[in-house]
Amino acid sequence: MSKADIGLIGLAVMGENLVLNMESKGFTVAVFNRTVEKVEKFVSGRGAGKNFIGCKSIEEFCASLERPRKVMMLVKAGAAVDALIEQVLPYLEEGDIIIDGGNSHYPDTIRRTEYVESKGLLYIGTGVSGGEEGALLGPSIMPGGSPAAWESVKPIFQKISAHTETGEPCCEWVGSDGAGHFVKMVHNGIEYGDMQMICETYQMMKEGLGLSNEEMHEVFKAWNESELDSYLIEITRDILGYKTEEGEAVIDSILDTAGQKGTGKWTAVSALDCGQPLTLIGEAVFARCLSALKDERVAASKVLSGPETSFDGDKAQMIEDLKQALYASKIVSYAQGYQLMRAAAAEHGWTLNNGEIALMWRGGCIIRSVFLGKIKEAFDSNPDLVNLLLDPFFKDAVENAQASWRRVIMKSAELGIPMPAIGAALAYFDGYRSERLPANLLQAQRDYFGAHTYERLDKPRGEFFHTNWTGRG
Ligand code: NAP
Repeated sequence: MSKADIGLIGLAVMGENLVLNMESKGFTVAVFNRTVEKVEKFVSGRGAGKNFIGCKSIEEFCASLERPRKVMMLVKAGAAVDALIEQVLPYLEEGDIIIDGGNSHYPDTIRRTEYVESKGLLYIGTGVSGGEEGALLGPSIMPGGSPAAWESVKPIFQKISAHTETGEPCCEWVGSDGAGHFVKMVHNGIEYGDMQMICETYQMMKEGLGLSNEEMHEVFKAWNESELDSYLIEITRDILGYKTEEGEAVIDSILDTAGQKGTGKWTAVSALDCGQPLTLIGEAVFARCLSALKDERVAASKVLSGPETSFDGDKAQMIEDLKQALYASKIVSYAQGYQLMRAAAAEHGWTLNNGEIALMWRGGCIIRSVFLGKIKEAFDSNPDLVNLLLDPFFKDAVENAQASWRRVIMKSAELGIPMPAIGAALAYFDGYRSERLPANLLQAQRDYFGAHTYERLDKPRGEFFHTNWTGRG
Protein backbone atom coordinates (compact mmCIF):
# COMPACT_ATOMS: atom_id res chain seq x y z
CA MET A 1 0.00 0.00 0.00
CA SER A 2 1.30 3.48 -0.81
CA LYS A 3 2.26 5.64 2.10
CA ALA A 4 0.44 8.72 3.36
CA ASP A 5 1.57 12.26 2.49
CA ILE A 6 0.69 13.45 5.98
CA GLY A 7 -0.84 12.00 9.14
CA LEU A 8 -3.29 13.56 11.58
CA ILE A 9 -3.97 12.70 15.19
CA GLY A 10 -7.24 13.96 16.67
CA LEU A 11 -10.46 13.21 14.84
CA ALA A 12 -12.65 15.80 16.59
CA VAL A 13 -14.45 18.68 14.82
CA MET A 14 -11.34 20.38 13.46
CA GLY A 15 -9.34 17.25 12.66
CA GLU A 16 -12.10 15.47 10.75
CA ASN A 17 -12.81 18.48 8.58
CA LEU A 18 -9.17 19.28 7.96
CA VAL A 19 -8.33 15.75 6.79
CA LEU A 20 -11.37 15.75 4.48
CA ASN A 21 -10.03 19.02 3.06
CA MET A 22 -6.54 17.49 2.59
CA GLU A 23 -7.92 14.38 0.91
CA SER A 24 -10.11 16.44 -1.42
CA LYS A 25 -6.97 18.25 -2.62
CA GLY A 26 -5.32 14.95 -3.63
CA PHE A 27 -3.36 14.00 -0.51
CA THR A 28 -3.41 10.58 1.13
CA VAL A 29 -3.87 11.06 4.87
CA ALA A 30 -3.19 8.65 7.73
CA VAL A 31 -5.52 9.18 10.68
CA PHE A 32 -5.37 8.24 14.35
CA ASN A 33 -7.34 9.14 17.45
CA ARG A 34 -6.77 8.35 21.13
CA THR A 35 -10.21 6.77 21.34
CA VAL A 36 -9.48 4.34 18.52
CA GLU A 37 -13.15 3.51 17.74
CA LYS A 38 -13.44 7.01 16.27
CA VAL A 39 -10.91 6.05 13.56
CA GLU A 40 -13.05 3.15 12.34
CA LYS A 41 -16.18 5.28 12.59
CA PHE A 42 -14.57 7.98 10.47
CA VAL A 43 -13.03 5.80 7.74
CA SER A 44 -16.28 3.90 7.34
CA GLY A 45 -18.38 7.08 7.63
CA ARG A 46 -17.45 10.52 6.29
CA GLY A 47 -14.13 9.17 5.06
CA ALA A 48 -15.52 6.07 3.28
CA GLY A 49 -14.15 5.39 -0.20
CA LYS A 50 -11.52 8.10 0.18
CA ASN A 51 -7.75 8.07 0.45
CA PHE A 52 -7.43 7.64 4.20
CA ILE A 53 -5.28 5.15 6.07
CA GLY A 54 -7.06 4.44 9.35
CA CYS A 55 -4.58 3.40 12.06
CA LYS A 56 -5.16 1.55 15.31
CA SER A 57 -1.91 2.47 17.04
CA ILE A 58 0.68 5.26 17.03
CA GLU A 59 3.26 2.75 15.75
CA GLU A 60 1.09 1.75 12.79
CA PHE A 61 0.30 5.42 12.18
CA CYS A 62 3.97 6.50 12.05
CA ALA A 63 4.92 3.51 9.89
CA SER A 64 2.28 4.50 7.30
CA LEU A 65 3.84 7.91 6.61
CA GLU A 66 6.05 8.97 3.71
CA ARG A 67 9.41 10.39 4.87
CA PRO A 68 10.07 12.97 6.10
CA ARG A 69 7.06 12.01 8.20
CA LYS A 70 4.61 14.81 8.83
CA VAL A 71 2.66 14.13 12.03
CA MET A 72 -0.02 16.73 12.63
CA MET A 73 -1.90 16.95 15.93
CA LEU A 74 -5.29 18.65 16.24
CA VAL A 75 -6.10 17.87 19.83
CA LYS A 76 -7.07 19.72 22.97
CA ALA A 77 -4.40 22.33 23.71
CA GLY A 78 -2.22 21.81 26.78
CA ALA A 79 -1.04 18.55 28.35
CA ALA A 80 -2.45 16.42 25.49
CA VAL A 81 0.08 17.95 23.08
CA ASP A 82 3.05 17.19 25.36
CA ALA A 83 1.76 13.66 25.95
CA LEU A 84 1.40 13.00 22.22
CA ILE A 85 4.87 14.31 21.43
CA GLU A 86 6.27 11.73 23.88
CA GLN A 87 4.14 8.99 22.29
CA VAL A 88 5.23 9.65 18.71
CA LEU A 89 8.92 10.40 19.34
CA PRO A 90 10.03 6.71 19.58
CA TYR A 91 8.64 6.01 16.10
CA LEU A 92 10.12 9.04 14.31
CA GLU A 93 13.54 9.58 12.76
CA GLU A 94 15.82 12.54 12.15
CA GLY A 95 14.22 15.16 9.90
CA ASP A 96 10.64 14.05 10.58
CA ILE A 97 8.20 16.83 11.44
CA ILE A 98 5.72 17.14 14.30
CA ILE A 99 3.00 19.75 13.72
CA ASP A 100 0.66 21.16 16.37
CA GLY A 101 -2.39 22.74 14.70
CA GLY A 102 -4.35 23.42 17.91
CA ASN A 103 -4.72 26.66 19.84
CA SER A 104 -1.55 26.24 21.88
CA HIS A 105 -0.15 29.13 23.89
CA TYR A 106 2.95 30.40 22.11
CA PRO A 107 5.39 30.04 25.08
CA ASP A 108 4.53 26.30 25.01
CA THR A 109 5.35 26.21 21.31
CA ILE A 110 8.69 27.94 21.92
CA ARG A 111 9.50 25.28 24.54
CA ARG A 112 8.29 22.36 22.38
CA THR A 113 10.21 23.53 19.30
CA GLU A 114 13.41 23.55 21.31
CA TYR A 115 12.65 20.14 22.81
CA VAL A 116 11.72 18.42 19.54
CA GLU A 117 14.71 19.97 17.75
CA SER A 118 16.96 18.64 20.53
CA LYS A 119 15.84 15.15 19.45
CA GLY A 120 16.94 15.80 15.85
CA LEU A 121 13.40 16.37 14.59
CA LEU A 122 11.58 19.43 13.35
CA TYR A 123 8.56 21.15 14.88
CA ILE A 124 5.78 23.39 13.61
CA GLY A 125 3.23 25.18 15.77
CA THR A 126 0.54 26.54 13.52
CA GLY A 127 -2.60 28.58 13.97
CA VAL A 128 -5.56 27.19 12.05
CA SER A 129 -8.49 29.60 11.94
CA GLY A 130 -11.95 29.46 10.48
CA GLY A 131 -13.65 26.89 12.69
CA GLU A 132 -15.30 23.78 11.32
CA GLU A 133 -16.25 25.27 7.95
CA GLY A 134 -12.82 26.83 7.45
CA ALA A 135 -11.10 23.53 8.22
CA LEU A 136 -13.20 21.79 5.58
CA LEU A 137 -13.22 24.42 2.85
CA GLY A 138 -9.96 26.28 3.43
CA PRO A 139 -8.75 27.82 6.68
CA SER A 140 -6.29 30.60 7.33
CA ILE A 141 -3.07 28.81 8.36
CA MET A 142 -0.30 30.55 10.33
CA PRO A 143 2.74 28.26 10.70
CA GLY A 144 5.89 28.89 12.72
CA GLY A 145 8.55 26.69 14.28
CA SER A 146 11.63 25.05 12.75
CA PRO A 147 12.30 26.94 9.49
CA ALA A 148 13.76 23.77 7.89
CA ALA A 149 10.33 22.10 8.13
CA TRP A 150 8.56 24.64 5.94
CA GLU A 151 9.60 23.41 2.48
CA SER A 152 8.14 19.93 3.12
CA VAL A 153 4.87 21.19 4.57
CA LYS A 154 4.33 24.21 2.32
CA PRO A 155 2.81 22.40 -0.70
CA ILE A 156 0.18 20.75 1.50
CA PHE A 157 -0.67 23.76 3.68
CA GLN A 158 -0.83 26.25 0.82
CA LYS A 159 -3.08 23.91 -1.16
CA ILE A 160 -5.58 23.30 1.65
CA SER A 161 -5.68 26.90 2.94
CA ALA A 162 -8.16 29.56 1.90
CA HIS A 163 -7.16 31.69 -1.07
CA THR A 164 -7.81 35.35 -1.75
CA GLU A 165 -9.92 36.34 -4.75
CA THR A 166 -6.66 36.89 -6.64
CA GLY A 167 -5.57 33.32 -5.86
CA GLU A 168 -2.97 33.92 -3.15
CA PRO A 169 -2.92 31.33 -0.35
CA CYS A 170 -3.89 32.55 3.12
CA CYS A 171 -0.90 30.67 4.50
CA GLU A 172 2.73 31.75 4.68
CA TRP A 173 5.66 31.01 6.96
CA VAL A 174 5.37 33.31 9.96
CA GLY A 175 8.68 32.83 11.78
CA SER A 176 10.69 30.69 14.14
CA ASP A 177 9.48 28.73 17.20
CA GLY A 178 6.28 30.29 18.65
CA ALA A 179 5.74 32.98 15.96
CA GLY A 180 2.84 31.15 14.26
CA HIS A 181 0.92 30.56 17.46
CA PHE A 182 1.67 34.12 18.59
CA VAL A 183 0.16 35.56 15.41
CA LYS A 184 -2.84 33.23 15.76
CA MET A 185 -3.27 34.48 19.34
CA VAL A 186 -3.27 38.12 18.19
CA HIS A 187 -5.76 37.12 15.47
CA ASN A 188 -8.06 35.78 18.18
CA GLY A 189 -7.58 38.96 20.25
CA ILE A 190 -8.54 41.08 17.24
CA GLU A 191 -11.56 38.83 16.81
CA TYR A 192 -12.59 39.64 20.41
CA GLY A 193 -12.24 43.37 19.64
CA ASP A 194 -14.17 43.24 16.36
CA MET A 195 -17.01 41.31 17.98
CA GLN A 196 -17.23 43.66 20.98
CA MET A 197 -17.32 46.77 18.77
CA ILE A 198 -20.11 45.31 16.66
CA CYS A 199 -22.02 44.52 19.86
CA GLU A 200 -21.61 48.11 21.03
CA THR A 201 -23.14 49.49 17.82
CA TYR A 202 -25.97 46.94 18.22
CA GLN A 203 -26.72 48.12 21.76
CA MET A 204 -26.74 51.77 20.68
CA MET A 205 -29.07 50.99 17.78
CA LYS A 206 -31.35 48.82 19.91
CA GLU A 207 -31.51 50.76 23.17
CA GLY A 208 -30.50 54.24 22.04
CA LEU A 209 -32.31 54.50 18.70
CA GLY A 210 -34.98 51.89 19.40
CA LEU A 211 -34.41 50.01 16.14
CA SER A 212 -36.08 46.64 15.58
CA ASN A 213 -34.13 43.49 14.65
CA GLU A 214 -35.37 43.85 11.07
CA GLU A 215 -34.14 47.45 10.90
CA MET A 216 -30.74 46.46 12.33
CA HIS A 217 -30.60 43.56 9.89
CA GLU A 218 -30.93 46.13 7.08
CA VAL A 219 -28.23 48.36 8.62
CA PHE A 220 -25.72 45.48 8.82
CA LYS A 221 -26.67 44.41 5.31
CA ALA A 222 -25.79 47.87 4.02
CA TRP A 223 -22.60 47.99 6.11
CA ASN A 224 -21.54 44.65 4.63
CA GLU A 225 -21.69 46.25 1.21
CA SER A 226 -19.35 49.04 2.32
CA GLU A 227 -15.75 49.29 3.54
CA LEU A 228 -16.92 47.26 6.57
CA ASP A 229 -17.51 44.18 4.36
CA SER A 230 -16.41 41.29 6.59
CA TYR A 231 -17.41 37.87 7.88
CA LEU A 232 -18.40 39.16 11.33
CA ILE A 233 -20.67 41.91 9.91
CA GLU A 234 -22.15 39.34 7.54
CA ILE A 235 -23.05 36.87 10.30
CA THR A 236 -24.40 39.71 12.48
CA ARG A 237 -26.70 40.66 9.59
CA ASP A 238 -27.88 37.05 9.37
CA ILE A 239 -28.29 36.60 13.14
CA LEU A 240 -30.50 39.72 13.35
CA GLY A 241 -32.57 38.55 10.40
CA TYR A 242 -32.99 35.01 11.69
CA LYS A 243 -36.34 33.72 12.93
CA THR A 244 -37.41 30.19 13.78
CA GLU A 245 -40.32 28.58 11.93
CA GLU A 246 -42.49 29.73 14.84
CA GLY A 247 -41.38 33.30 14.17
CA GLU A 248 -39.14 33.65 17.23
CA ALA A 249 -36.15 36.00 16.92
CA VAL A 250 -33.60 33.77 18.69
CA ILE A 251 -31.25 36.71 19.38
CA ASP A 252 -33.74 38.14 21.88
CA SER A 253 -33.79 34.93 23.95
CA ILE A 254 -30.04 34.46 24.32
CA LEU A 255 -28.64 35.02 27.82
CA ASP A 256 -26.34 38.06 27.82
CA THR A 257 -23.26 36.47 29.41
CA ALA A 258 -20.30 35.88 27.13
CA GLY A 259 -17.97 32.90 27.36
CA GLN A 260 -14.27 32.85 26.58
CA LYS A 261 -11.61 30.20 26.13
CA GLY A 262 -8.64 32.39 26.98
CA THR A 263 -6.93 33.48 23.78
CA GLY A 264 -8.19 37.08 24.16
CA LYS A 265 -6.88 37.11 27.71
CA TRP A 266 -3.51 35.73 26.53
CA THR A 267 -3.30 38.57 24.00
CA ALA A 268 -4.04 41.21 26.63
CA VAL A 269 -1.58 39.67 29.11
CA SER A 270 1.07 39.51 26.43
CA ALA A 271 0.50 43.22 25.69
CA LEU A 272 0.92 44.04 29.38
CA ASP A 273 4.11 41.95 29.46
CA CYS A 274 5.47 43.81 26.42
CA GLY A 275 4.32 47.22 27.74
CA GLN A 276 2.13 47.84 24.69
CA PRO A 277 -1.16 49.80 24.80
CA LEU A 278 -3.53 47.15 23.47
CA THR A 279 -6.45 48.95 25.05
CA LEU A 280 -9.24 47.90 22.71
CA ILE A 281 -8.70 44.16 23.02
CA GLY A 282 -8.21 44.58 26.77
CA GLU A 283 -11.60 46.30 27.03
CA ALA A 284 -13.17 43.58 24.87
CA VAL A 285 -11.93 40.90 27.29
CA PHE A 286 -13.16 42.91 30.30
CA ALA A 287 -16.53 43.48 28.61
CA ARG A 288 -16.96 39.69 28.48
CA CYS A 289 -15.98 39.50 32.17
CA LEU A 290 -18.54 42.19 33.07
CA SER A 291 -21.23 40.41 31.03
CA ALA A 292 -20.56 37.24 33.02
CA LEU A 293 -21.53 39.02 36.27
CA LYS A 294 -25.18 38.66 35.33
CA ASP A 295 -26.61 38.20 38.83
CA GLU A 296 -24.65 41.17 40.20
CA ARG A 297 -25.73 43.31 37.26
CA VAL A 298 -29.37 42.39 37.74
CA ALA A 299 -29.13 43.37 41.42
CA ALA A 300 -27.22 46.58 40.65
CA SER A 301 -29.74 47.59 38.01
CA LYS A 302 -32.33 47.87 40.78
CA VAL A 303 -30.09 50.20 42.81
CA LEU A 304 -28.04 52.32 40.42
CA SER A 305 -29.77 54.68 38.04
CA GLY A 306 -28.52 56.28 34.84
CA PRO A 307 -29.63 59.30 32.82
CA GLU A 308 -33.32 59.76 32.02
CA THR A 309 -32.50 61.18 28.57
CA SER A 310 -33.67 59.47 25.42
CA PHE A 311 -32.45 59.91 21.86
CA ASP A 312 -34.18 62.76 20.05
CA GLY A 313 -31.76 63.39 17.17
CA ASP A 314 -31.53 62.30 13.56
CA LYS A 315 -31.49 58.47 13.57
CA ALA A 316 -30.15 58.13 10.04
CA GLN A 317 -27.25 60.44 10.93
CA MET A 318 -26.50 58.44 14.09
CA ILE A 319 -26.48 55.19 12.11
CA GLU A 320 -23.96 56.73 9.71
CA ASP A 321 -21.95 58.00 12.71
CA LEU A 322 -21.94 54.49 14.21
CA LYS A 323 -20.62 53.08 10.96
CA GLN A 324 -17.82 55.63 10.89
CA ALA A 325 -17.02 55.08 14.57
CA LEU A 326 -16.85 51.32 14.00
CA TYR A 327 -14.57 51.75 11.02
CA ALA A 328 -12.20 54.15 12.79
CA SER A 329 -12.09 51.96 15.90
CA LYS A 330 -11.34 48.91 13.79
CA ILE A 331 -8.34 50.73 12.32
CA VAL A 332 -7.15 51.50 15.85
CA SER A 333 -7.61 47.86 16.87
CA TYR A 334 -5.41 46.62 14.04
CA ALA A 335 -2.91 49.44 14.68
CA GLN A 336 -2.66 48.23 18.29
CA GLY A 337 -2.45 44.55 17.28
CA TYR A 338 0.40 45.26 14.88
CA GLN A 339 2.10 47.38 17.52
CA LEU A 340 2.03 44.37 19.85
CA MET A 341 3.35 42.04 17.14
CA ARG A 342 6.22 44.43 16.42
CA ALA A 343 7.21 44.54 20.09
CA ALA A 344 6.95 40.77 20.51
CA ALA A 345 8.95 40.18 17.33
CA ALA A 346 11.75 42.36 18.70
CA GLU A 347 11.64 40.51 22.03
CA HIS A 348 11.65 37.00 20.55
CA GLY A 349 13.88 37.64 17.52
CA TRP A 350 11.13 36.97 14.97
CA THR A 351 11.10 38.64 11.57
CA LEU A 352 7.39 39.08 11.02
CA ASN A 353 6.15 40.06 7.58
CA ASN A 354 3.25 42.37 8.42
CA GLY A 355 1.83 42.43 4.88
CA GLU A 356 1.84 38.61 4.69
CA ILE A 357 0.07 38.42 8.05
CA ALA A 358 -2.71 40.66 6.68
CA LEU A 359 -2.90 38.41 3.62
CA MET A 360 -3.18 35.28 5.79
CA TRP A 361 -6.13 36.87 7.60
CA ARG A 362 -7.70 38.04 4.34
CA GLY A 363 -9.59 34.77 3.81
CA GLY A 364 -10.67 31.65 5.65
CA CYS A 365 -10.67 33.06 9.16
CA ILE A 366 -13.18 34.75 11.46
CA ILE A 367 -11.69 38.25 11.06
CA ARG A 368 -11.56 38.04 7.26
CA SER A 369 -12.53 41.34 5.67
CA VAL A 370 -11.99 43.56 2.66
CA PHE A 371 -10.23 45.96 5.02
CA LEU A 372 -7.27 43.54 5.42
CA GLY A 373 -6.42 44.08 1.75
CA LYS A 374 -5.81 47.74 2.61
CA ILE A 375 -3.56 46.75 5.52
CA LYS A 376 -1.52 44.56 3.18
CA GLU A 377 -1.17 47.49 0.77
CA ALA A 378 -0.05 49.76 3.62
CA PHE A 379 2.72 47.39 4.72
CA ASP A 380 3.69 46.55 1.13
CA SER A 381 4.28 50.22 0.39
CA ASN A 382 6.11 50.75 3.71
CA PRO A 383 7.30 47.54 5.42
CA ASP A 384 8.74 49.64 8.28
CA LEU A 385 5.48 51.43 9.00
CA VAL A 386 5.58 52.18 12.73
CA ASN A 387 1.82 52.48 13.22
CA LEU A 388 -1.04 51.79 10.83
CA LEU A 389 -2.56 55.18 11.72
CA LEU A 390 0.40 56.85 10.01
CA ASP A 391 -0.29 55.20 6.65
CA PRO A 392 -1.81 57.84 4.31
CA PHE A 393 -4.92 55.75 3.53
CA PHE A 394 -5.72 54.99 7.17
CA LYS A 395 -4.79 58.51 8.33
CA ASP A 396 -7.39 59.92 5.92
CA ALA A 397 -9.95 57.28 6.86
CA VAL A 398 -9.65 58.01 10.58
CA GLU A 399 -9.66 61.77 10.07
CA ASN A 400 -12.76 61.54 7.91
CA ALA A 401 -14.50 59.44 10.56
CA GLN A 402 -13.39 61.57 13.46
CA ALA A 403 -16.40 63.87 13.85
CA SER A 404 -18.81 60.92 13.72
CA TRP A 405 -16.68 58.93 16.15
CA ARG A 406 -16.77 61.76 18.72
CA ARG A 407 -20.54 62.25 18.30
CA VAL A 408 -21.07 58.53 19.00
CA ILE A 409 -19.00 58.60 22.19
CA MET A 410 -20.68 61.81 23.39
CA LYS A 411 -24.10 60.31 22.74
CA SER A 412 -23.20 57.04 24.47
CA ALA A 413 -22.10 58.96 27.58
CA GLU A 414 -25.22 61.10 27.45
CA LEU A 415 -27.56 58.11 27.13
CA GLY A 416 -25.62 55.89 29.53
CA ILE A 417 -24.98 53.17 26.95
CA PRO A 418 -21.52 51.62 27.47
CA MET A 419 -19.08 51.62 24.55
CA PRO A 420 -15.84 50.48 26.18
CA ALA A 421 -14.04 49.30 23.04
CA ILE A 422 -15.05 52.14 20.71
CA GLY A 423 -14.39 54.63 23.52
CA ALA A 424 -10.98 53.10 24.25
CA ALA A 425 -10.11 53.34 20.57
CA LEU A 426 -10.88 57.06 20.53
CA ALA A 427 -8.90 57.64 23.74
CA TYR A 428 -5.94 55.79 22.20
CA PHE A 429 -6.20 57.87 19.03
CA ASP A 430 -6.20 61.08 21.06
CA GLY A 431 -3.31 59.86 23.20
CA TYR A 432 -1.24 58.62 20.28
CA ARG A 433 -1.58 61.91 18.40
CA SER A 434 -0.65 63.99 21.48
CA GLU A 435 2.78 65.50 21.57
CA ARG A 436 2.34 66.05 25.29
CA LEU A 437 0.47 63.84 27.74
CA PRO A 438 -0.05 64.51 31.45
CA ALA A 439 2.71 62.06 32.37
CA ASN A 440 4.81 65.05 33.51
CA LEU A 441 2.47 65.31 36.50
CA LEU A 442 2.60 61.57 36.98
CA GLN A 443 6.39 61.66 37.08
CA ALA A 444 6.23 64.52 39.57
CA GLN A 445 3.91 62.45 41.79
CA ARG A 446 6.26 59.47 41.60
CA ASP A 447 9.18 61.69 42.47
CA TYR A 448 7.22 63.30 45.33
CA PHE A 449 6.30 60.10 47.14
CA GLY A 450 9.07 57.77 46.06
CA ALA A 451 12.02 59.87 44.85
CA HIS A 452 11.71 58.03 41.54
CA THR A 453 13.30 61.02 39.72
CA TYR A 454 12.28 62.50 36.36
CA GLU A 455 13.81 63.66 33.09
CA ARG A 456 13.44 67.27 31.92
CA LEU A 457 12.23 68.63 28.59
CA ASP A 458 15.15 71.07 28.49
CA LYS A 459 17.86 68.49 29.24
CA PRO A 460 19.16 65.43 27.32
CA ARG A 461 17.24 62.17 27.73
CA GLY A 462 18.84 59.87 30.29
CA GLU A 463 19.67 62.68 32.74
CA PHE A 464 17.59 62.29 35.89
CA PHE A 465 16.50 64.93 38.42
CA HIS A 466 14.93 64.92 41.83
CA THR A 467 13.07 67.72 43.63
CA ASN A 468 12.64 68.02 47.35
CA TRP A 469 8.91 68.78 46.97
CA THR A 470 8.18 69.27 50.68
CA GLY A 471 11.34 71.09 51.64
CA ARG A 472 11.78 68.58 54.45
CA GLY A 473 15.20 67.06 55.00
P1 NAP B 1 -11.05 19.45 21.06
O1 NAP B 1 -12.39 19.26 21.67
O2 NAP B 1 -10.28 20.64 21.46
O3 NAP B 1 -10.16 18.15 21.35
C1 NAP B 1 -10.66 16.86 21.13
C2 NAP B 1 -9.61 15.96 20.54
O4 NAP B 1 -8.45 15.94 21.38
C3 NAP B 1 -10.10 14.53 20.44
O5 NAP B 1 -9.59 13.95 19.27
C4 NAP B 1 -9.50 13.90 21.68
O6 NAP B 1 -9.37 12.51 21.61
C5 NAP B 1 -8.15 14.57 21.70
N1 NAP B 1 -7.47 14.47 22.98
C6 NAP B 1 -7.83 15.09 24.13
N2 NAP B 1 -6.95 14.75 25.11
C7 NAP B 1 -6.03 13.93 24.55
C8 NAP B 1 -4.87 13.27 25.04
N3 NAP B 1 -4.48 13.42 26.30
N4 NAP B 1 -4.17 12.51 24.16
C9 NAP B 1 -4.55 12.37 22.89
N5 NAP B 1 -5.63 12.97 22.36
C10 NAP B 1 -6.36 13.75 23.19
O7 NAP B 1 -11.20 19.38 19.45
P2 NAP B 1 -11.44 20.51 18.35
O8 NAP B 1 -12.55 21.43 18.75
O9 NAP B 1 -11.50 19.81 17.06
O10 NAP B 1 -10.12 21.39 18.42
C11 NAP B 1 -8.83 20.85 18.17
C12 NAP B 1 -7.79 21.94 18.39
O11 NAP B 1 -8.05 23.01 17.45
C13 NAP B 1 -7.85 22.60 19.76
O12 NAP B 1 -6.57 22.98 20.17
C14 NAP B 1 -8.69 23.84 19.54
O13 NAP B 1 -8.43 24.86 20.48
C15 NAP B 1 -8.27 24.22 18.14
N6 NAP B 1 -9.25 25.00 17.37
C16 NAP B 1 -10.56 24.70 17.43
C17 NAP B 1 -11.46 25.43 16.67
C18 NAP B 1 -12.92 25.10 16.69
O14 NAP B 1 -13.70 25.86 16.07
N7 NAP B 1 -13.35 24.02 17.32
C19 NAP B 1 -11.01 26.47 15.85
C20 NAP B 1 -9.65 26.73 15.77
C21 NAP B 1 -8.78 25.99 16.55
P3 NAP B 1 -10.56 11.56 22.16
O15 NAP B 1 -11.52 11.41 21.02
O16 NAP B 1 -9.88 10.29 22.51
O17 NAP B 1 -11.18 12.24 23.35
